[in-house]
Amino acid sequence: MEQHYDMVVIGSGPGGEGAAMKATKSGLSVAVVERYHDVGGGCTHWGTIPSKALRHTVSQLAEFRNNPLFLPLLMNDDPIPLAGMLRSAESVVRRQVAMRHGFYERNRVRVVHGTARFVEPNVVEVEAPGGASERLHARDFVIASGSRPYRPANVDFAHFRICDSDTVLRLKETPSTITIYGAGVIGCEYASMFRTLGVKVNLINTREKLLSFLDDEIIDALSYHLRDQGCVIRHNEEMERIEPVEDGVVLHLKSGKRVKSDVLLWANGRTGNSQGMGLEALGVVTDDRGQIKVNDQYQTSLPHIYAVGDVIGQPALASAAYDQGRFAATHVACGSCDNRLAQDIPAGIYTTPEISSLGRTERELTAEKVPYEVGPLAVPQPRARADHRADRRDAQAALPPRDPGHPRHPLLRPPGERDHPHRPGGDEPARGPQHHQLLRQHDVQLPHHGRGLPGGGAQRAQPTLLRFAREGQKVATAPRWKAQSWSAPLRMPHQE
Ligand SMILES: Cc1cc2nc3c(=O)[nH]c(=O)nc-3n(C[C@H](O)[C@H](O)[C@H](O)COP(=O)(O)OP(=O)(O)OC[C@H]3O[C@@H](n4cnc5c(N)ncnc54)[C@H](O)[C@@H]3O)c2cc1C
Repeated sequence: MEQHYDMVVIGSGPGGEGAAMKATKSGLSVAVVERYHDVGGGCTHWGTIPSKALRHTVSQLAEFRNNPLFLPLLMNDDPIPLAGMLRSAESVVRRQVAMRHGFYERNRVRVVHGTARFVEPNVVEVEAPGGASERLHARDFVIASGSRPYRPANVDFAHFRICDSDTVLRLKETPSTITIYGAGVIGCEYASMFRTLGVKVNLINTREKLLSFLDDEIIDALSYHLRDQGCVIRHNEEMERIEPVEDGVVLHLKSGKRVKSDVLLWANGRTGNSQGMGLEALGVVTDDRGQIKVNDQYQTSLPHIYAVGDVIGQPALASAAYDQGRFAATHVACGSCDNRLAQDIPAGIYTTPEISSLGRTERELTAEKVPYEVGPLAVPQPRARADHRADRRDAQAALPPRDPGHPRHPLLRPPGERDHPHRPGGDEPARGPQHHQLLRQHDVQLPHHGRGLPGGGAQRAQPTLLRFAREGQKVATAPRWKAQSWSAPLRMPHQE
């Protein structure tokens, strides 16, 4: 028997959740199909949340080890099994899943567990894990099926020493050495994490520099600090083959180098989850990386089928996926949507030191002949000293101070410089502990600088506290939520 809905959403990550919540609150009947056994998507189960929870645990462990108070408690420097740290990440994931289940229940959105595949332009068949199938009919569809790590055919990912960013979370033991192939955001974040754990890290970059979308100053600082922490970085290298041996895995590079380690983490590229969904038969256009082509309203080549989030490619951020989902659902519900994703999306990069970034780089402004200024922010040293980090992470995170006694923090301009016609002082990346929270403060302020973002609001990096508060505000409808008090001036759902 076919179930009929106004909208069927495929995938329950941020993109699918954003679409489903907006649609149900606009009065549409909605079902969400999810092939994993829990809601939340890759974001909750193998991407943003577990990697950040793990990172938090690793940072806490490092702080514990660096604090003289705890020295007597430390019997030895033996590595802590990764599995133990991952268990602490699991509890964060469980709480996230419970919260997200609540969103669907409270907003009367049916969640259907199984794999969705189009059998007709307006019908998807959902095959449940046990083999049973069900057909869902809808007027409109939103595909929010996410992405997965790109896996070249000549790499044996079934071997226990070779993993990607999904399967690294299944490592039981902390390796002594790891080679990370690919030095994008995920590669750099894991390099920092493993290094903090005391693992010897080889970071193999296929490009000339790390994270070339950032300012040169920040790239140089990141390279400096990773190397200073003991990470070996090799630029401009390309894999020839990967050879598992008895006591390790050897990465053979085209340059003739061979890098041996206990484990190899493949972090080089991602592929959109668009295969096996019957899209070819319908004529929905995808590219060679599995990314679905959409117009500026997130419609595919079939106007009633929308696609959002990682499956359409950049910016491939949880925050962007969520908003794209909402915009697509608005278009379905209202027939039009004026909201657009902000071009300047704040990014938080959770390396050590942390990096946050918003807008154009100094390199781009210079190429465009736009005058600009760099404003240092004085972060008083005593605060860092007081929490035992002055000689370690905080101090390392600071560039040579321009103003003696203060680490340089180029994110915010000094008061009184806000009226420069071209130079948005906040368009500078910054780095250091908790910088993503500073960026949050800054993007809240942007509209007051005459730089309001289109779509009636700022785009927010994730995960930050305020981002979660905002998502909670968007999906909550129950009185229980209204009773909670927030220090931030949130509008309640009935005010939307
Ligand atoms: C290691 C890592 C760290 C990251 N860190 C950050 C970060 O710090 N900040 C940030 O903003 N972003 C981060 N990201 C990116 C972020 O996780 C993604 O941008 C976000 O999850 C994309 O959301 P989505 O809804 O498009 O897809 P997903 O969250 O991947 O969800 C897609 C869902 O669709 C389901 N699905 C797929 N195909 C089908 C089908 N045929 N039928 C039914 N269900 C299906 C999948 O099971 C999955 O649950 C990170 C990613 C990784 C891998």
